[in-house]
Amino acid sequence: MKILTVTAHPDDEILGFGGSSWVLTQKGNEVHHLILSGNVDVRRHRPEVSELFADIDKANKEVGSTFELRDFPNIQFNVIPHIELVKCIETVIEEFEPDLVFTHHPMDLNDDHKHVSNACQAAVRLFQRKPVKRIKGFYFMEIPSSTDWAFPLGYGGFLPNTFIEIGEEGLKMKLSALSKYQGVMRAFPHPRSVEGITGLAAKRGGESGYIYAEAFQAVFQGLE
Ligand SMILES: [Zn+2]
Repeated sequence: MKILTVTAHPDDEILGFGGSSWVLTQKGNEVHHLILSGNVDVRRHRPEVSELFADIDKANKEVGSTFELRDFPNIQFNVIPHIELVKCIETVIEEFEPDLVFTHHPMDLNDDHKHVSNACQAAVRLFQRKPVKRIKGFYFMEIPSSTDWAFPLGYGGFLPNTFIEIGEEGLKMKLSALSKYQGVMRAFPHPRSVEGITGLAAKRGGESGYIYAEAFQAVFQGLE
């Protein structure tokens, strides 16, 4: 299977999908990440851009995934025309031909995540408009310190209904990959702490009967 994730920032792909990347690539699947603000220039506590590229590379090698970067501006996706984001994602869908697509939840606290999610929702319909490979599944993922930090205002938050078991090894590889990113991990009780990541994986495992899991919200599935 070919799996594509579409995220805003370097580290989202590991925070939301790091354990799953490791498990799925170990089983022979291909996991590729499109990171739309790959040239992040407004990051506090973050390294120089050249160091960031090295961090992205190291983190993804750790869990077996590949990636490509675009340079949309960090925390400014609100001023980018929707159509630009959609076209960018559509191009990668045409080239990579994924079976499954994962992206941000549209209610995440981070504004870039909302815009990426909305653009991705439009882009995954491409196979119904053009003769490109059918997408069999489309899912929202959860990003600690963004999905969980959205305020419960009644617009429909993250509803986990799909789980991937990552096991102790997958959790270890996820934490190891996150440690390659300078400035991402924080002290507990921040959600991006070893305790926060481990606790969330344990909670999602408890919900699904798995030994540690990453949770997703299925948006669209075509069974064949
Ligand atoms: Zn992000």
